[in-house]
Amino acid sequence: MSNQTLNLDDRLHRYLLDHSVHETAVQVALRAETAQQPMARMQIAPEQGQLMALLVQLLGVTKALEVGVFTGYSALAVALALPPEGQLVACDVSEDYTAIARRYWQQAGVADKIDLRIGPAVDTLDRLIAAGDANSFDFAFIDADKSNYPTYYEQALQLVRPGGLIAIDNVLWSGQVADPEVTDNRTKILRTLNDTIHQDRRVTASLVPIADGLTLAMKKR
Ligand code: CA
Repeated sequence: MSNQTLNLDDRLHRYLLDHSVHETAVQVALRAETAQQPMARMQIAPEQGQLMALLVQLLGVTKALEVGVFTGYSALAVALALPPEGQLVACDVSEDYTAIARRYWQQAGVADKIDLRIGPAVDTLDRLIAAGDANSFDFAFIDADKSNYPTYYEQALQLVRPGGLIAIDNVLWSGQVADPEVTDNRTKILRTLNDTIHQDRRVTASLVPIADGLTLAMKKR
């Protein structure tokens, strides 16, 4: 037994999937189609979708935000976990990827819950803040261009309510955040953001080593 997080080999990872994930047929089909995409690794892992769905239900989320939709798997997991009156504002710049997303949201019967906003998310979030949506979201998921992560984090902090949760993807960045030899811009931005959140007294946070690393930061009440 170890009190350190396990390294998952393929067999143990398979076991974890088999004992964690519950997907609908539409989720399975979307994952299969996304796997054909050259950028397939941009999709979240199914075990992460399962965790996010659990968090959405646990928090009683009715209003959610997503920055970075890609082909819509994470939005689908969140939308399926929302109550019938729940809403997800989903931001992305790509018409092509989100066209795939829309097809599967339709099939899953959750299209009405998802308000897709095409355009730079920094602008979309600024507009939400200006429109009076600050402190109104229960949950925000950030999984987009890493160069804007610090901005998305600050905007999400304004948009979520006290007690609301911000989830930030790829914070372990394939392990590169801990490798001093890696000094490219995106890695440095993620390192700085991880430092910032760890010291940020506005939130209670935990860096969860699921998939590529998921920080969960609750805005303090
Ligand atoms: Ca990601």
